[in-house]
Amino acid sequence: MPTNAELVAKAERAQLPNYRPPPFVLSQGRGCRVEDVEGNAYLDFSGGIAVLSVGHAHPVLTAAIAEQAGRLMHTSNLFYSQTSIELAAEITARTPFDRVYFANSGAEAVEALLKLARRWHFEHGRPERTDLVAMHKSFHGRTMGALSLTGQPKYHEGMAPLVPGVTHVPFNDLGALEAAVTDRTAMVLMEPLQGEGGLVIGETAYLEGARRICDERGALLFFDEVQTGYGRTGRFLGAEHSGVVPDGCSLAKGMGGGFPIGAIAVTERLADGLPPGSHASTFGGNPLACAAGLAVLRILDDEGLVENAARMGQRLGEGLEAMVQDAAMPAAVEARGLGLLRGVRLADSVDAREVYGRLRDEQRTLASIAGGTVLRLAPPLNVTADEIDEALAKLGALLKDVEA
Ligand SMILES: *Cc1c(COP(=O)(O)O)cnc(C)c1O
Repeated sequence: MPTNAELVAKAERAQLPNYRPPPFVLSQGRGCRVEDVEGNAYLDFSGGIAVLSVGHAHPVLTAAIAEQAGRLMHTSNLFYSQTSIELAAEITARTPFDRVYFANSGAEAVEALLKLARRWHFEHGRPERTDLVAMHKSFHGRTMGALSLTGQPKYHEGMAPLVPGVTHVPFNDLGALEAAVTDRTAMVLMEPLQGEGGLVIGETAYLEGARRICDERGALLFFDEVQTGYGRTGRFLGAEHSGVVPDGCSLAKGMGGGFPIGAIAVTERLADGLPPGSHASTFGGNPLACAAGLAVLRILDDEGLVENAARMGQRLGEGLEAMVQDAAMPAAVEARGLGLLRGVRLADSVDAREVYGRLRDEQRTLASIAGGTVLRLAPPLNVTADEIDEALAKLGALLKDVEA
């Protein structure tokens, strides 16, 4: 096998430098552990950015993918395929939604929500309803529609002109939402818990208020559950924590356990929002991706992983809270998140990227950064109590050595 250095040198010549990965190359994993081409092992609490719902190389998922690959990998949307029909039915059975459209990523799912919102109003004689309302510090993806909805100016830099018609308002500020939603608003989009923005929870009163405002003014309310869906927060959907039922949601990250797939799910009222020919994706509903999606659901059920995410998430959250209270760890200032989408906000005086790098290099534990200052932990939903405790011990050992 080539060395880390050889492969990194090759990457630096052949790949565009739009990412800044550390100088090693991952080659295999199992559960919560992953190792590089030289055999250096890491505890993986980055979870592939909340994607690895059932961990690395889960045998049931691996077998389902291999079996489907040997049978029927692609049909295009010119034809039905069995796994996409079954996956759509499974998603409607687990959510308040009735209709599903499949995409290949989170951004594509968000694009589909945007297009459905405008087209649904258009179909119902309201072509003027094209405006879109989204949140400050939100993250919805990098394609132009999803990027335009993303409320983080740093991602817009050099990419203008964006899709017109988007207004951003502060999250959890009902007055601002009242002022922004008009009789020209097609949809309001928000994450029930902002992921990339720093693990900020949508307050129940806010989400309820958003539902009321949208109902009163005839706008659609959509939740972007790309990061929070599929059990990540200890419920199947992040929306369940508040009990607020939006008109639809996007899903992606955890759906395929690492296999690329996204979806939107909407209520029956919106079933005529995308009439034949109005939207499409060549790979959307791909039989192989949907087989992965079905296998993940089967594993979540058979292993009780949504409940495990709630239980292990509480353990992780309590451990992070203890660090915040610990005078020996002044860099830890606030524990955030739900289920297994958790994090600790670091003091403003601390360089979060440096802490993240030291956790990786000194403690051999992978995490990610959200909102610039939050060290985010999103381990597989089948993480064990021992693995949670190990990650907490490693993070604690590091934070004792970080000045604030
Ligand atoms: C990651 C993410 C996206 C974008 O998903 P991609 O698959 O990277 O396109 C959209 N919305 C939310 C909430 C996300 O966390």
